[in-house]
Amino acid sequence: MKQFRVFGNPIAQSKSPSIHQQFAVQTALMMNYESELVELEQFDIAVKKLIANEGKGANVTAPFKEQAFALCDELSERAKLAGAVNTLIFSNGLIYGDTTDGLGLVNDLLRHHVQLKASKILLLGAGGAAKGVVQSLLEQFPQSLTIANRTLSKAEAIAEQYPKADVSAITFEDTEHLVFDIIINATSAGLSGASLPISDQTIKNADTCYDMVYGTESTAFLKQAKLLRVDNIIDGLGMLVGQAAESFYLWNNIRPDVEPVLMSLRAELNQ
Ligand code: NDP
Repeated sequence: MKQFRVFGNPIAQSKSPSIHQQFAVQTALMMNYESELVELEQFDIAVKKLIANEGKGANVTAPFKEQAFALCDELSERAKLAGAVNTLIFSNGLIYGDTTDGLGLVNDLLRHHVQLKASKILLLGAGGAAKGVVQSLLEQFPQSLTIANRTLSKAEAIAEQYPKADVSAITFEDTEHLVFDIIINATSAGLSGASLPISDQTIKNADTCYDMVYGTESTAFLKQAKLLRVDNIIDGLGMLVGQAAESFYLWNNIRPDVEPVLMSLRAELNQ
């Protein structure tokens, strides 16, 4: 049977095995997808072991996305721009790397009928998750994409990668007097319950507030948006299922239906 893995450390929390097993049932494909905890120095060895044991592909999560990038023989354009991969495809003795987080995010926003074309987008954060979605967001032709980060130099480094597009870098404080249609939180602040210094007025002006973090409880950012009655308030669960669907497609050439899987994960979270 074709073997797939998600590699990470930690990995026990990963929902990817459940998502891919549901996709496999839905599409009547025989495949085995498991999570694997990899020691920090053992990533390359784990990949090679999988390839030797009928491995056809893998997902990669923190902290190995950059190591995975370095291990690939070939990379997609969007992976090159992101400097990281979350999907490995093993074919003809080569390792091909791609990143599906951006498509996962964009497809989830479109699923919620959020208009990206000609919109003013504010992306909070400049870590791996932010880097991984910029190209996909730009492919939707927004009017502008502004990246705000605690460490300004990291946002500036991303903006410099897109000299032909309207991408700029600012501090959180600079957001105060600007107006955005969509605010996407790609910081990990939500994981620790920390709030971001984004003013109520900036949030109130937006139609959509999206947080890549998901969980049983809303993040401080989404709670703030709820209090301010923002129209669309969306967490990152749909992005998670969406990026998985794109990985599944790269491996199997079949695009699964994200809706029923998302419903079952949402029900689990709400239990
Ligand atoms: P990184 O560690 O690479 O980057 C973290 C980012 O968060 C940096 O920009 C950092 O700022 C910022 N940050 C962290 N804490 C704070 C804080 N207290 N205040 C302000 N800024 C803060 O993480 P990733 O980019 O890989 O992941 C970011 C989040 O996205 C994670 O929570 C992850 O779970 C989520 N994610 C969700 C996905 C999904 O499918 N839903 C997919 C991928 C990621 P600085 O540069 O100044 O340190």
